[in-house]
Amino acid sequence: MLEQTLAVLKDDSPDFVSVTYGAAGSTRERTVEITKWIKQDLGIEAMAHLSCVGEPTDRLIEILGEIRETSIDNVLALRGDPPRGETEWKPHPRGLRWSIELIDLIRSQFEFCIGAACFPEVHPEAENLEQDLLYAKRKVDAGASFLITQLFFDNEDYFRFVERARAIDIDVPIIAGIMPITNFEQIKRFTSMCGATIPGELHAQLETHHSTDDPEAVLELGVAYATLQCADLLARGAPGIHFYTLNKSPATRAIMAALKAARPWERVVSEAKELA
Ligand SMILES: Cc1cc2nc3c(=O)[nH]c(=O)nc-3n(C[C@H](O)[C@H](O)[C@H](O)COP(=O)(O)OP(=O)(O)OC[C@H]3O[C@@H](n4cnc5c(N)ncnc54)[C@H](O)[C@@H]3O)c2cc1C
Repeated sequence: MLEQTLAVLKDDSPDFVSVTYGAAGSTRERTVEITKWIKQDLGIEAMAHLSCVGEPTDRLIEILGEIRETSIDNVLALRGDPPRGETEWKPHPRGLRWSIELIDLIRSQFEFCIGAACFPEVHPEAENLEQDLLYAKRKVDAGASFLITQLFFDNEDYFRFVERARAIDIDVPIIAGIMPITNFEQIKRFTSMCGATIPGELHAQLETHHSTDDPEAVLELGVAYATLQCADLLARGAPGIHFYTLNKSPATRAIMAALKAARPWERVVSEAKELA
């Protein structure tokens, strides 16, 4: 299935494909192997996610060594979430507590291009946006050279977040994380876990399609909504979109096709020229 998905998405020339590490119950063991396969066999730039969950620091160093040996250059350094069935985040007794510590570890022993996560609607455990932004700044100061956002559905959350980030000198690209809605129950589960909000109007329409047992209509709305979201983001200067594809290609492929036809990113340049 992953092979078929990537065969399709490869035609859209993604800048990179990233492989999750233990997210939402996925296995950790295969991240390095799959990332290597994407880079070496499929010839697509690849990024391995790595989280601090359940691993002592020694093992994290080993995994980083394995990633290094495969000629993968990019690592998304994460804290991770509590394993399924647990609600409270507990670091491994001989492990790391925050993603910043993982970034420090990587920087001190390896040469990778490091990315980190950020949260336009504030991380659920953070005290407030200011505090969360300060940690994002520390991730960048520690060595993250780009940030990818948690999924969000209201672009104003993204642009407000970027503005606040720039105000405290977070000057790296902040890539917008977009999850096309393909299943109502699934997106409700994800958003409740990660603290993202589904705007009222969108929620109401999804609810209507769901209550009339029309999954096709949910999918069509999800794709149309994400397309509008991406077009607006790119037209207003977002440096790129990171699609949470969940190993499925049709929604992302449809969105990409529409974006390539409309080319919203060119509007940023032409509007700037008109103003000059
Ligand atoms: C793009 C993206 C990809 C992801 N991929 C995966 C994946 O592959 N596998 C997976 O398990 N999860 C993944 N996640 C989920 C991620 O692990 C969770 O969102 C997790 O809860 C937070 O990770 P983090 O790296 O931002 O943690 P941290 O940066 O450690 O932040 C966690 C919380 O602690 C606070 N904090 C940070 N540093 C400090 C500090 N020094 N002192 C006190 N508080 C601090 C922050 O404000 C935040 O509230 C991904 C998330 C994103 C956005």
